Amino acid sequence: MTVELPVTGTDIWYYFICKRECWLMIHRIAPDEEDENLEIGRFIHEYRLGRQKKELSVDSVQLDRIKKVGDHLIVQEIKKSSRFLESSRYQLLYYLQTLKKMGIEAKGELVFPEERKKESVILTPEEERVLDRAVAEIRHIARQPVPPPPKKINYCRKCAYRDYCWAGEE
Ligand code: SF4
Repeated sequence: MTVELPVTGTDIWYYFICKRECWLMIHRIAPDEEDENLEIGRFIHEYRLGRQKKELSVDSVQLDRIKKVGDHLIVQEIKKSSRFLESSRYQLLYYLQTLKKMGIEAKGELVFPEERKKESVILTPEEERVLDRAVAEIRHIARQPVPPPPKKINYCRKCAYRDYCWAGEE
């Protein structure tokens, strides 16, 4: 029997940004740990969650925060910026789908503390189909012996792998 690669919310996030980065993260190729964007991201994450609050692990996903509003369960995902909204949305939708498979119905809320913004996220059948395709493709990418070739996108300028992908280029 083949054991399927557990796909995490972070894999989903990277998949919607850059498939090469997704491969590099899954294969644990270390990015530049000194990169300022990694540092700021970590700081916001730790500061906003607070020392007393812990992430909740469910299956292969880690939820930032869960709260109950009336009869609804709301899963919050905290992000540094709303710039990569599509990736952030699908990451949170993946959490909602994972909970749904466990019989737990929940809504989502993206929280951007630096921008003092929130956005509601609802799982629909169409979003579920997109996620199922993404998970299948992530598993396919992960099985490849080498990463997909780099493609220059806006995110490259902020990416901790930029030296790895583009060393020697302008
Ligand atoms: S530098 Fe660009 S191509 Fe390379 S992993 Fe990052 S986003 Fe992808």
